[in-house]
Amino acid sequence: MTQHLMSNYGRYPIAFERGAGTRLYDEAGNEYIDFTSGIAVTNLGHCHPNVTRAIQEQAATLVHTSNLFQIRKQEEVAAKLAKLSGLDQAFFCNSGAEANEAAIKLARKHSKEKYGEHKYEILTLEDAFHGRTLATVSATPRLKFQEGFAPLVPGFRYVSKDLAEIEASIGAHTCAILLEAVQGEGGVLPLSPEFLQGIRALCDQHGLLLILDEVQTGIGRTGTMFAYQQAGIQPDILTLAKALGNGIPVGATLAKADVASAFQPGTHGSTFGGTPLVMAAVLATLDTIESENLLDHATEMGVELGLRLQGLIEQYDCLLELRGLGLLRGVTLDRPVAPLVAKCQELGLLVLNAGEKTLRLLPPLNVSSQDIHLAMKILEHAVQEITETITNA
Ligand SMILES: *Cc1c(COP(=O)(O)O)cnc(C)c1O
Repeated sequence: MTQHLMSNYGRYPIAFERGAGTRLYDEAGNEYIDFTSGIAVTNLGHCHPNVTRAIQEQAATLVHTSNLFQIRKQEEVAAKLAKLSGLDQAFFCNSGAEANEAAIKLARKHSKEKYGEHKYEILTLEDAFHGRTLATVSATPRLKFQEGFAPLVPGFRYVSKDLAEIEASIGAHTCAILLEAVQGEGGVLPLSPEFLQGIRALCDQHGLLLILDEVQTGIGRTGTMFAYQQAGIQPDILTLAKALGNGIPVGATLAKADVASAFQPGTHGSTFGGTPLVMAAVLATLDTIESENLLDHATEMGVELGLRLQGLIEQYDCLLELRGLGLLRGVTLDRPVAPLVAKCQELGLLVLNAGEKTLRLLPPLNVSSQDIHLAMKILEHAVQEITETITNA
């Protein structure tokens, strides 16, 4: 009965009814191990009891008031995020694209106030993904996402992942560089610490803002709260969403105080941004990462998953290269990945693609060794079934 839904998604023929931890159950009662986490959203697994309790309690107390009033839980989350990120202030919205929209508007406004009307251009990288709103598809230099939506929002310039080319592209209008620390949708492509440090240096040298889009990589996905921490750099603006509320829709734009001050009463807003209900879920999510020591655990499990995947790559010719960081992992194939994803589903394992030929794995941060073992067995079985030619086995 999908005839009243727009056809903008290609959906698999499975509907889930229930989830708990790493497991999902479909309408027929079949069990699946979820190594997608709802595309890097349910980082604590499905229906984590701490988050469920927080939502239930808050839903019975107060759901929404509007941002015309003080919202204490917003202040609390903002203080926590400031402490975790080293940035000063937060704006809350409802999605990754919106968090990036706010970042783009903030960067433009700050730069125009500081340097004059000519400062508005933002550099973005090849293979990037920043969202589906008009400005964020304009920031995403890929035809697949832009086709049919012209005229796009002006003010973006696309650059390759080459520091010299990026420096040569910085012009009188440039105000910021926007990038992901690991390009998730683009194929699970991490940017090296040296590259990120080089970008930071270029920004400092040329008076540009560094905007990091950690919508997918944030909230422990790569083993640290934010992926940039592994490169030893600090952004000027940081965007978060996906896992921030473990499934409750929320986005956040964080910034240094002198940048954030470009937003004053009336300059930007969101009706639903940062409601008490959403903030309760975020607090429970962040508290659980800390109380269950999930950053260390994710790092450990990331190593284990990486080793297991490397083992499969060495065993099967169709698997080429291991990519990624922590529990954001990719494996490139010598062929389209769709049949492998479908075969895994059939065998009870949910995995994702990233582009046409890259398998993407995003287990929850609290995934166990046993679940990794089980998932890798299923993946291996699926690889065998789609290739039927085994080498060195
Ligand atoms: C998913 C994603 C977005 C878009 O987030 P939405 O919540 O779907 O708007 C933006 N940037 C990155 C890096 C993402 O992975």
